[in-house]
Parts: sequence; C-alpha cells; structure tokens
Amino acid sequence: MVEAPSFAAGGGKMGALLREHDWSRTALGPLETWPQSLRTTVGLILHSVVPIVLLWGEDGIMIYNDAYSVFAGGRHPALFGSKVREGWPEVADFNDNVMKVGLGGGTLAYQDQELTLYRTGRAEQVWMNLDYSPVPDERGNPAGVIAIVVETTARVLAERRQAAERERQRAIFQQMPGFVGVFTGPDHIFEYVNDAYVAISGRRAFVGRTVREVFPELEGQGFYELLDKVYATGKSFTAQAMPIRLVAENDDRYIDFVYEPLRDDGHKVTGIFVGGYDVTDRVRAEARRETLVRLTDKIHDLTDPNDIAFAASEILGQALKVSRVGYGAIDPDAETLEVVRDWTAPGVETLAGVVPLRAYGSFIDSLKRGEFIDINDVEQDGRTADAADALKSRSARSFVNVPTLEHGRLVAVLFVNHDSVRVWSPEDLALIREVAARTRVAVERSRNEAALRDLNATLQNRIAAALAEQASMEDALRQSQKMEAVGQLTGGLAHDFNNLLAGISGALELTQSRVRQGRVNDVERYITAAQGAVKRAAALTHRLLAFSRRQTLEPKPTDVNQLVTGMQDIIQRAVGPTIAFEFVGLAGLWPALVDHSQLENSLLNLCLNARDAMPNGGKITVETANKWLDARAARQHDIPEGQFLSLCVTDTGVGMPPDVVARAFEPFFTTKPTGEGTGLGLSMVYGFARQSGGQVRIYSEVGQGTTVCIYLPRYYGELSGDDEPATAADMFPSGHSETVLVVDDEPTVRMLITEILAELGYVAIEAADSVSGLKLLQSDARIDLLVTDVGLPGGMNGRQMADAARVTRPELKVLFITGYAENSLLGNGRLAPGMAVMTKPFPIETMAARIKQIIES
Ligand code: ADP
Ligand code: MG
Repeated sequence: MVEAPSFAAGGGKMGALLREHDWSRTALGPLETWPQSLRTTVGLILHSVVPIVLLWGEDGIMIYNDAYSVFAGGRHPALFGSKVREGWPEVADFNDNVMKVGLGGGTLAYQDQELTLYRTGRAEQVWMNLDYSPVPDERGNPAGVIAIVVETTARVLAERRQAAERERQRAIFQQMPGFVGVFTGPDHIFEYVNDAYVAISGRRAFVGRTVREVFPELEGQGFYELLDKVYATGKSFTAQAMPIRLVAENDDRYIDFVYEPLRDDGHKVTGIFVGGYDVTDRVRAEARRETLVRLTDKIHDLTDPNDIAFAASEILGQALKVSRVGYGAIDPDAETLEVVRDWTAPGVETLAGVVPLRAYGSFIDSLKRGEFIDINDVEQDGRTADAADALKSRSARSFVNVPTLEHGRLVAVLFVNHDSVRVWSPEDLALIREVAARTRVAVERSRNEAALRDLNATLQNRIAAALAEQASMEDALRQSQKMEAVGQLTGGLAHDFNNLLAGISGALELTQSRVRQGRVNDVERYITAAQGAVKRAAALTHRLLAFSRRQTLEPKPTDVNQLVTGMQDIIQRAVGPTIAFEFVGLAGLWPALVDHSQLENSLLNLCLNARDAMPNGGKITVETANKWLDARAARQHDIPEGQFLSLCVTDTGVGMPPDVVARAFEPFFTTKPTGEGTGLGLSMVYGFARQSGGQVRIYSEVGQGTTVCIYLPRYYGELSGDDEPATAADMFPSGHSETVLVVDDEPTVRMLITEILAELGYVAIEAADSVSGLKLLQSDARIDLLVTDVGLPGGMNGRQMADAARVTRPELKVLFITGYAENSLLGNGRLAPGMAVMTKPFPIETMAARIKQIIES
C-alpha cells in the first residue's frame, strides 16, 4: 500500500475515497505522480463545504468533495474519477462547452441554470448556480476546470410557486366586479388596477403614475388626504357610499371601498391596496325611495289639492337639487301657463304668474297635448334652440314638464334648473314621473275624500235632524196624547155645556132687558145671581177648552208689554198685599200674534200659582224678552226654529221637585188640597201656548222659587192699535135698516141674536139649518150680514154654507158664532176678509158692538 500523500490527508469521505482510488489506471497516473498544482487544488476542494468538482485534463476527470457527492445523488460514487462527459451523459454538450471554455482560459457563470439530470435514474429538473474557472498547471497553462455547483432548485420552485400564486390572485382581481388597485410609496403610485377600476375611472394609463396625476379632479374631494393618512398611520380605512365626482360626469357617483395598507417583511408600510364597489345605483334607488316616503308622509294629511301639489314640488326640488319646481295650469287655447305656486331654492325668485308659451319653442305643442317633456339644454335641443334666450331669461336652462292633473284643464309641473345644464338621468326622470303619479293619486283621493266628507256630513245632519225630529215628535206625541184623552172628554162636554149656557145667559139678558124697559118688575136679584153662575161656568168651560186645544182663538197682533201693564192692577189684587209684584218689560219687544184674553188668562194663572207657592209672602217678577232660537235651541224647546218672545213669571216660593215639574202640565194634576187646586191652570197655559205656535217651560229649584216662561212666535207686522173694548154706548140703536140673516139650530140663541139686532135697529131673518139658510142666501133678499153657528144640521156646516153663499154674494159679510170651535173649519183663526168669529157664550154688549162694527165697516 502506497503511503497517502499529505494533500489528501483528512478531506472527509471523499479524502478517503481519493486515497483508495486506483489512479494508476487513469490519465492522471498514481497520486504520487500528480503535479503540485493538481495536488493543491484537490486539497482545497476536499476541505470546502461548498459543492466543488475539479474537471482535470482534456477529459475532465472528476474529483469532488463530500458536498458535491451529496449533489451527485445516485451517480456517486461511480462518478468519482470518471470523465465528465461520460459521468453526466445527459448534459454532455453543456459540459463539453465548459471544458472548452475553461481549458481555453475562460470562466463561466450561470445563475439558476435549468438542467435535466438523471441522478436517481429518473429525469429531474434542477436549477443551479454554476461557476467555472480554469486551474493552471506549473507552467501556468489551464490544465483543468474547477466548478462550484450550488443547487437552487428548491428556491427556484418556491419562487415559481409564489409567482404563480401572484398571477392567480391578479387574475382573480382582474375579473372581480369590484374595482381593485394597488398603490406604492408615499406618493401613491399606481402599481396595479383591475378591469373594473379601468372601467369606472374612464381612463387607461395608470401604472407608474401617481394618483394625483391620474385623478386631478379628486382635489378637494378628500381622497388624497385619506390615502396619505392610511399610508402614514398604517391603519386601514373603510367608506360607505362616499360621493365621488369624476370629470366626465355631471353627477355624483357613490362608492363603498377599503384602503388597506400593504407592508414589507419588516412590517413597514410600502403601499396601499384599494378595493370597492360602485354603489351609485343603490344609493340613488334609496334616495328615490326616501323621497317617495317623504312625499307620502308629507301629503298624507293634506286635503287641499294646491297644498298637495306644493308639497310634491318642494320634495322634488330638494331631492333633485334644482332651482325651481312650480306647478300650474296650461291653457291650450290661450297658450299660457299659469304658474299657481312654485317652490324655489334659496335665493331664486318666484315666477308665479301667467307666462305666454308661444315664444318658448315648439315643445309647447307636446305640452298642450299633455306629454312628458325633458330638455337638458335649451341651447342644444332642437325644440328650444331658437327660443333659448327667452327661456334662459326665465332661468330655464334645463327643465322637465310633466302633466300632473287633468280636470278639464291641464296642469304641468315644471322643473327648471337655474343656469347650468342638467342632463336628466333616467333615475331623475323616473323619480319625477313617480312623484307626479303619486301627486295625482293624492289629489284625486283628497277630492274624493272631500266629496265623501260632504256627503257624510249631509247624511249625518239628516240623520241627526231625523232623530231629533223623531225624538221631539215622540215627546210631543206623548204630551198631546195625554192632552188628547182629556180633550176628547172635556171637548164634547163643553160643547153641550156651552150651548146650554148660551141659552141661560141669553134668557137672563133678555129678561134683564125687559126689566130695564120697565115691562117686568123685581127680577133683578135672581138675574144677577144667575149671571154670576153662568160666568163661573163659562170660565170653567174656557179652561177645559184651552187645554183640550179646541178653543177658538182670536190671535191678534199684540203688544205683550202693554197687555201685562193693563193686567197689573188685577194681578196685584189677586195675589194680595203680602206679595210684591214687579214687571220688567223689554223695550223694543217684538209683537206677538196671540189671543188676548187667553194670554191674560194664562198670565193670571201663573201669578195665582206663584201666590200659592208663597204662603208667607214674597215677590213675583214678570219679564218679557226677545228670543232667537237656533236649530238646537228650537229642538230643545220643541218648537220651530225662529224668533220668539218670552213672557216669564218668576216667584220666590217653595219651588217644584223634578217629579212635580214632569207632571205639572197634566190636566187635573195638583198638589194642592181638595177644593183648592183644580190641576187645570198649567194645562190650560200649555194648551194655549202650543196652539199659538209657542211653548211653555218650567225652571224651578226647590226652596228657591220657580220661573214659568211662555214663548210666543214673533209677529212680523205693524200693530193696529184700534182694539177698543166694547162699551155700553154701542148698545144704542143706530137706526139703519140693514138686514141680517141668523142661522142657528138653537132657538134660544136665534132668539137672543134677533133681539140684539132689533135693538140695534137692524132687520133680522132667521133660519134653523144650513139648507134653509142657503136658500135665503141664494135668493135675492137683501142680506148685509150672515150670523151663523158653525155646527149646523142640514148637511153643511156654517163655513161651507158661507162659502157657497159667497159664490153669488162675494161681498157677503159673515160672523161665525161657535162654542165648540171647529178651528180647522175656520182656518185656525185665519179667516177670509169680511169674515169674523165669536165664541159662545158672549156678553150682549160684545155681540152688539161686533155686529155693528162689521156692518158699518
Ligand atoms: P193647581 O194650581 O190647581 O194645582 P196647576 O196646573 O196650576 O194646578 O198647577 C199644577 C201643580 O204645579 C200645582 O199643584 C203645584 O204643585 C205646581 N205648581 C204650579 N206652579 C207652581 C209654582 N209657581 N210654584 C210651585 N209649584 C207650582
Ligand atoms: Mg193653578
């Protein structure tokens, strides 16, 4: 065994291999013979940790170290000492070039040189950094090539993967619907933008330019500042619906986006990632929806079409940021637009008024047809170009006209943008149409509702009136039914009673008359007594008739104040000295149309009741007043609406509890001891007041006193004032020979009247029934006056007979005498001219005076 040369000492496994190798069979010869240059080089290689191989001689005999043996893989150890072109056949050409260059004295260097090797029997793609330099021999000529081989496959593959990943991401970004961009450096230089970014921005050149260069119009919109801040702070920023205005557009767009800082390995910010979406459509749709909601809220409670249209104008004006929104009526014939009211932005003058249209271009023809018109720029639009100056003078550079309402006349809403051009977007136009449509609906609705409200009110009123009427009728019916029952009873009684009384009274008076003439003696006492009884009976009859509402009233225009004044003495005497009496008459009291004696009777009755309520004395106050009863008050009082006067009697007596008030008008209702009260006073007053078209009301408080008021309808006319009571003077014969026909079935009454007539100097003719009466009336006998009962046998009543007689004697004067007043037959006191009525029984003087008055009139 040859002793190992010192250069090969150590050198790891390869050192050992070198020593064992039989070099004698190679071109190098045994180790001992190797030249010094070779020895030095090999010693260097073996001690290096970097993979190094020495390619010696023309053949490139391979001597390598441990590190290279690892690189050689399956080729080692056969590779050791082999010729390089044979040891690596798959890269023989490559190595051939290496050998030629190296032995020629040149060097070679490769970075990440890709080669396909078969180190394990399979093709293997590898990357290497290769460094070749010549190794000189003792004479300085290149004798071999030393190669430093560093495999970089792992790194290259990792880099490739990273690149591929980046590429994949880029592809994803590229196609994303949102926009993506990457800025680097503090000046935000574009490094990358995706397709969406390009599309949205509307420009092409980005990469390598700063954001300020690419988007100069963003100055003042806040974006630069945000980027600077994100870069400086390293904090990301997120925005929602941020407005952005790019130069190509006339309107804001809105974007959701994020600025995310990008960092290097040292965590230092190097750039900014931006990603986001254009949300303009969504924002506009929301704005539109909000506008419509506002509109709906605002016009919800409005009822006036003008108010609704104005509210819509205001909302549209604010939503669209225009200068003016007006509405008005287009008169197609006059070719005018009358702007009723317009909403204007602050500082813009109103244009309300009438505007002639013809001067403003051909669009007015479509306007007259009610078409929707939008004009972006009056100078550019063919319909308005010629009239642009006129339109601009009314500050209409851009506008929309939309027909809103059609109710016989066309109304347009006019949008005018001040002096700048407005390109109406589809969103704008859709909003305008929608607002117009809703306004129209609201106006229709308000009109319908108004009509409905009116209808409803009318119905309600009618229902209320019907209910009130029904209630009052029910009330009246109850009251009158009560009265009716008694009335039926007493009315019939009174009729017979009255006829009887008339007979008695007449007989007595005749007798008295004879006595006065001296034909009979000494009967005066009885006669006076009899007459007293007759008067009392007659008074009772009157009361009965009054509450049965069958009495004959002789309503006359009456000054009630005067009537009360005339009664004052009688009342004071009736109530006695312990009771003070005061009358407070209203100056300017309306006249009433009322029966005098019944009113006097009623007043007296009320005062007597007051007296009874004040056994220890007190005060009676009588007051008159004018009352104007409206529908409500009239309903309350159960009388027709209108003007009334009141006559109220107030006492300071014991008062009436409610149950007594409720029943006080009932006939025969009395709280007084038997023999004292008849219970007919108030019922008489009630019957009289109702029959006179008025009412009676009681207001009372127990312990305080009572007020009873009679309401009487106002009389619209003059008071005549010639109502003197009859006097005995009228009893003297007047010496005329006028003829009077007396028709009555009661012989006593006939006789009485005939006597009166004779005493007055008239000629009397008699008839007992209507047939014989009419016969006389239709004859040519002279008849100046017909005095007739109303209830007559013979098929006709007195009234019918009189009417029949007037066919041939139209001027015939008639005096009806009646006890049981068939009011309806006599027209309820309204008699034809030349007709009069008297109630039985009557004093002779009254009858005489009346007959005389009629004949002489
Ligand atoms: P009479 O007086 O005969 O009792 P009226 O019909 O006049 O009958 O009155 C009926 C009832 O009404 C009386 O009994 C009394 O209870 C009550 N009344 C009438 N007027 C008054 C009054 N001024 N004060 C208190 N109670 C009265
Ligand atoms: Mg009474």
